[in-house]
Amino acid sequence: MNVAQVRRTSGESIHFDVVENFSPFELGTESFSFSAPVHVQLQVINTNKAVLVSGTIETELKVICGRCLEPFDYPLNLPYQDEWAFPAQATEELLESALLLEKDEVDISQRIFEQLVLALPMKFVCSEECQGLCLTCGANLNQTKCSCKEEVIDPRFAALAKWQAND
Ligand SMILES: [Zn+2]
Ligand SMILES: [Zn+2]
Repeated sequence: MNVAQVRRTSGESIHFDVVENFSPFELGTESFSFSAPVHVQLQVINTNKAVLVSGTIETELKVICGRCLEPFDYPLNLPYQDEWAFPAQATEELLESALLLEKDEVDISQRIFEQLVLALPMKFVCSEECQGLCLTCGANLNQTKCSCKEEVIDPRFAALAKWQAND
């Protein structure tokens, strides 16, 4: 992203509309790939003290449902906000939340990637109604109804039933 024009003139603003392909990545033991390019729309404004960047990041990840283990596309649509301070105006206070703008060329892919990772949920679920897998036979309960469901008895009730039978 080239911010030369904005960097030199106070009050100047520029709009970026970028579509970029991101490589698959790993996070802990899970690996993720993108099922759509990353679409970034940003407004960059020179406030005289810093350059403010705000906009949205949109993409889709190919993930595995934590309940039924089927792959599905998980849409991500997040706000993006950054502040890059000019070295001359960069106070310690400002740098607590802002980055330092030292060049005309800014590579924001790393920042975008960080935002994406932060926005990921602990567990992906394909739909609120997802029935998951049968704990006994492993059948995908969204696709089939297995017959073992009624036979699963809570061990505590099983013990109680036995105790009552002995009584
Ligand atoms: Zn599911
Ligand atoms: Zn079953």
